[in-house]
Amino acid sequence: MPPLPSGSVGPTGHTEHTGHTGQSHQRGSGHSGRSGGSGGFPGRGLAKGLAVTLRTMTRRSVTDQYPDAQPELPPRSRGVIALLEENCTVCMLCARECPDWCIYIDSHKETLPAAEPNARARTRNVLDRFAIDFSLCMYCGICIEVCPFDALFWSPEFEYAETDILELTHEREKLREWMWTVPPPPALDPAAEEPKEIAAARKAADKLAAADAAAEAAAAAAQESAGTTPPPGGEEPAP
Ligand code: SF4
Ligand code: SF4
Repeated sequence: MPPLPSGSVGPTGHTEHTGHTGQSHQRGSGHSGRSGGSGGFPGRGLAKGLAVTLRTMTRRSVTDQYPDAQPELPPRSRGVIALLEENCTVCMLCARECPDWCIYIDSHKETLPAAEPNARARTRNVLDRFAIDFSLCMYCGICIEVCPFDALFWSPEFEYAETDILELTHEREKLREWMWTVPPPPALDPAAEEPKEIAAARKAADKLAAADAAAEAAAAAAQESAGTTPPPGGEEPAP
């Protein structure tokens, strides 16, 4: 058979390579063959694999051996939703905005007596039930964002798996317990403006302290003047 031109496909389906002289003839199979690599010594691939294994064996592991070691989670981890029920006014915003409808709130109204004579009695909502079904929750955080009274927070707690899906609906007692796992808010930037709430609280505290100090000073002055004023009748008290 006459030699094929360089790079043409031979009868075996493999590419036939020929030198310029037409004397050397090499058949490329697409595999590295027994040499174990692109022209290296035999067993080169095996040696490379063993070197990778040895290198990995001697390297320090970065895997957290959970549950023996607790993972160090980022402070903004979305583990579970915690409820500060003292702040909840039962405005229902969170339940209305939840895309999964997995927040259940029950409440009743309570009438409070008027604080002043001739004033109207006031009514307020009392929370009876606050539950979140974590089998439906998709951790979008909308409820936390929309709560106008800072009653909902992300907690990094994540160990609340259950064997029964029905038990993934957690009631307010459990949500309140998770409040203790909520990390403190990050420190403010030193150059940031003082938050309005803190400024108002500080002003009120300063005012109260000044009023206390003035009352104490007045009492001390009254005591002093009473001690130096002679008793009625003009006579000095007997020694
Ligand atoms: S995180 Fe999203 S899905 Fe889960 S309860 Fe809140 S609003 Fe609903
Ligand atoms: S939005 Fe906040 S205050 Fe309103 S019901 Fe939900 S948790 Fe309570």
